[in-house]
Order: sequence, then structure tokens, then C-alpha cells
Amino acid sequence: MDRDGRRYFNHPTFNWLMDIYEEVMELAKRRGFLWPSFEIYGGTAGFYDYGPLGAALKRNIEHLWRRFYVIGEGFYEIETPIIGVEEIFRASGHLASFTDPIVECKSCKEFFRADHIGDRCPVCDGELGDVFEFNLMFKSFIGPGSKRAGYLRPETAQGIFVDFPRLLRFFREKIPFGIVQIGKAFRNEISPRQGLIRLREFTQAEAEIFVNPQEKTHPGFDLVKDEVLTLLPRGADEPTRWRLADAVREGIIAHELLAYHIHLTYRFLTAVGISEDRLRFRQHMLDEMAHYASDCWDAEVLLDRLGWIEVVGIADRTDYDLKAHQEASKVDLGVFMAYDKPKVIEKRKIKPKMEVIGPRFKQDAKRIVAALEAMDPDEVGDQEIVLELEGREVTITPDMFECVKVREEVSGERLIPHVIEPSFGIDRIFYAVLEHAFSEEEVEGERRVVLRLLPSIAPIQACVLPLLGARDELVKVARDVHRQLRRQGLIVEYDASGTIGRRYRRQDEIGTPFCITIDYETLEDDTVTVRFRDSMEQVRVAIDELGDWLHSELGL
Ligand code: AMP
Repeated sequence: MDRDGRRYFNHPTFNWLMDIYEEVMELAKRRGFLWPSFEIYGGTAGFYDYGPLGAALKRNIEHLWRRFYVIGEGFYEIETPIIGVEEIFRASGHLASFTDPIVECKSCKEFFRADHIGDRCPVCDGELGDVFEFNLMFKSFIGPGSKRAGYLRPETAQGIFVDFPRLLRFFREKIPFGIVQIGKAFRNEISPRQGLIRLREFTQAEAEIFVNPQEKTHPGFDLVKDEVLTLLPRGADEPTRWRLADAVREGIIAHELLAYHIHLTYRFLTAVGISEDRLRFRQHMLDEMAHYASDCWDAEVLLDRLGWIEVVGIADRTDYDLKAHQEASKVDLGVFMAYDKPKVIEKRKIKPKMEVIGPRFKQDAKRIVAALEAMDPDEVGDQEIVLELEGREVTITPDMFECVKVREEVSGERLIPHVIEPSFGIDRIFYAVLEHAFSEEEVEGERRVVLRLLPSIAPIQACVLPLLGARDELVKVARDVHRQLRRQGLIVEYDASGTIGRRYRRQDEIGTPFCITIDYETLEDDTVTVRFRDSMEQVRVAIDELGDWLHSELGL
């Protein structure tokens, strides 16, 4: 049935109308993928538990992500604390500006995002109070008492930035390199009501790629430059198809490295089961871009009820974070970049006049000369200079030095790397994968619900089913096959209850790609029936070859 442009249908078991979102969430709860946390205590918005099948599916998504970023790109994974000290978030800007404007209803006391509602309370039509800024970080205290504040991290990235000096040493002082982290992030969202899309505790998979600001390229760009993606550039009304090389040449995407990572994101999302025609890349508006970013694109997926939803942000964060942490921590976060060959440069220097300084300052003269030589002539000008020498102030008058031009050979320069960051929201991807995999069809007059998950990420890879009413011999063979496949590293279920049709439907609904039926023929020739979930076609495979056959079909 069509209503509001959405699909509704009558559920055979539950007699009410549901849209796809409700249908997917209902299935997810009923079949052990996910459910609201703390349910026996009434639950709290913004928290979800992953049940047995959900946790397995989420892990598979994360493993595939590692295959792309750790194995494919050669990045290293690290693990840093979920809680961070206040200094980190003061420097990163989160303490001051990771806020949303909120407003409280004077009558029902509900809070709302001020920029999402009108003049009156959307729940009770009551009068609204004053708008104020609410910081989205969860605050806690480290150790007893309340002297040392700590914050649950609002993104995993900061843990990587503050480790930069150690990471740089690990990479023998050379950039580029990439570091990834998969872990929980926390945002005290104001009124989360969209299931996995807006959580207060969620999983991010982030890569921070540290590069020379002058070299925002990727050796793999040549291989993908002719690929075509759906882009919605800033200012465009409609998404259009762009060849990557053209998008970079026309200045739509800031540089090759960002274009490469947009494409890598596309490859990952489609490899995990997001359908290509419901995926696009939208460039941030200038006023929407985070304070640190110079260019930012969101991978957006189309969902049935929710419309286009951001699942990944791919940003050029420039040197913003490292510079901010360098300034706050006073630790040098620069990298020495050697030139291919030394350069001769002309520069201005302060030349102290020893013949004036020597007699005037005697034993302090050497130190004063060193201090003057280290100063930048452009900052000093030809004014008086006041130096601090062991707590004393020493005034250097213009007759004690001169500014001269010198030629110097330099072998390189220190610079703060720029950071390219693809930031994936695993929970949103998880939900989108479920919704895009969800399908229903009519088979022999009955409704069949199938989760068309890609075999490589399905939580259960196969299910072994002895024929109903089977003699004990069949059950014994079925148990042996089940055990054998588990020993071969496959995640295989065993199900002997109900008609074979019902058992197939149960596996279809949780996305199990293969059902293995043990029937009377098995006893005669040691073969089994393998049923394909999507086409429902059946083939016979020898028990001896079953493990290898499944491994290859699953793409393991
Ligand atoms: P951001 O740092 O806001 O760009 O977030 C990076 C990614 O994390 C987004 O693309 C989302 O997929 C995900 N994300 C952000 N906020 C939430 C949230 N409240 N709940 C679930 N996922 C989120």
C-alpha cells in the first residue's frame, strides 16, 4: 500500500500497518539483532544493545572495514581511552563549541533542539523558555573528589592526535602515515528518537591520515580516477554523476587525496551491502563545515522513513588539531621534512654587536648574544628589545645589534602535517545495511521476508537442517555435518524444529545465505542439498567438499 510515498503492508503476524523502518526494527528486535538498552527498567532514549545476531553482524562490518583500511591501505590500528582529560577537549575546541542550542518547555519540562522547532512546545503546545547552549559531552571526574574533570570522548580522533609524537617516532619520523581506531564515542544528544541513527553512545571507525600539506595525493588515485560517483556539490540542486578526475580538475573536490578517500568510502559501503542507487556524496555548505575543516563530504544513504542520512564524513581537517594541541601542550608536533636537495635561501638575521655588548654586559654577554641570534628580525624591528635573563630584565638598545641579510643552505623545514579523516558511524551503517538488505516477496501465496545480506557479512553463514520426521540416522549425519563445518571455521547453526519450509523462512529472515538439508539421498551417496537464500535454487554438494565449497561461496 502506498501512503505518503512510503510502502506499507499488512504483516501476517502483526495486524497493523508498518513502514519499512518499523518492519526492520521489529524484525531486528524479534530475531535478536538489537533492542533498546535497559529495557527492564523502562529504557532510555539513545541507547541500543546489539543482541547475538546484531553483535555478530556489527563485528563483520567492522572486520570488513579493517580489511579496507588496515590491510588495504596499510594503516595501523590503535586503542586509546574512552575518557579523556579536560585539556584535550579544551584544545580541540569541544569544550567551548561542541554545543547545540536548546530550549525547555515551561509546562511539560521537555528539552528540544531550539533550531528544530517553532515558537511553542511540539509536545504540549506550552510556552518555551530561553534558548541556551548545551554541551554534548558527558562529563565525569577522574579519581575521588571533583578536582580532575574527565569527558567521554565525542569522537575517537582526539586520542590519535594527542599520540602524534609517539606515532611519529614509530613511523621513524616520516609522513605520510595513517592510524585508525574503532571504538565508542559519546554524545549527549538532546532528544534522540531515530533508533540507531542518533545514539548517545555509538561506534565510530575513524582513520586519521597525516600528510605533507603540499602532497595531498595518493599513489592509487590513477587506478580510480576514471570511476564515476554521484556527487552533490555545494550549491548544486541535484546530485550529478562525476568522473573523479574531472571533479578534482574542476575544483569540486579539493584534491586527489580526498577524492581517493571518497571513492574508498564508496567501495567499502557497497562492499558491505549499501545499495549503490541509494548512496551519494554531499559536500558541506561553508557554514555547516566543522570549524577545523577545509573541505568536507558526507556519504549519505537513502532510508525509507528518514530520507538522506549521513553515515560517513570525509574531511580535510588541515593542521587544525595538531596546531591546537601543540599550542596547548607546548609539545612540538611538527615533522622535519627534508628537501630532495638542499635549498639556498636569503634571510634576515639579527647580528649582535659584540664590541658594544661585551664591555656593557661582561659575563652575561655570551648568553645575550645567543638569545638575540635566536630572535626573528621581523618581530623585533629596530626598536629596543627587552630580554629576560634569569628573572632579570635586560634592555638591548638599537646600537647593540643590526639586521643583516645572509644566504643560508637549508636541508628541509619543520611543518605541521595536515590530516585527512574518513569518519564512519558504524551503527548508522549497520541500520542502513539491514534496511537495504530487507526485502519481501510472495512465494506460493505466502509472504517471504528475506534479509539479502552479502554472504561475507551474514551473522550465520549456513544452517544445517535434517529432514522433518527424520530417522535417527539422518539426525546423526546432520549433527556430524554441523560439527564438521564448525571445525572448519564456519559459523553454522543447527535447526531441527518445524517444517522444512518454516525453517527455511527463519533463516531467510536473518540473512543466512545457505541452508544445508540432510535428506534420504544423503544416506545413499553422502551428498547434501544446499539451498541458496536469494534464488531458492538448490544444488547437491558432497559432504567431503562442503566446507571448501562454503568457504569459496562465502568469499572467505
Ligand atoms: P561527525 O563527527 O559528526 O561527522 O560524525 C561522524 C559519523 O559518526 C557520522 O557520519 C555518523 O555516521 C556518526 N554519528 C555521529 N553522531 C551520531 C549519533 N548521535 N549516533 C549515531 N551515529 C552518529
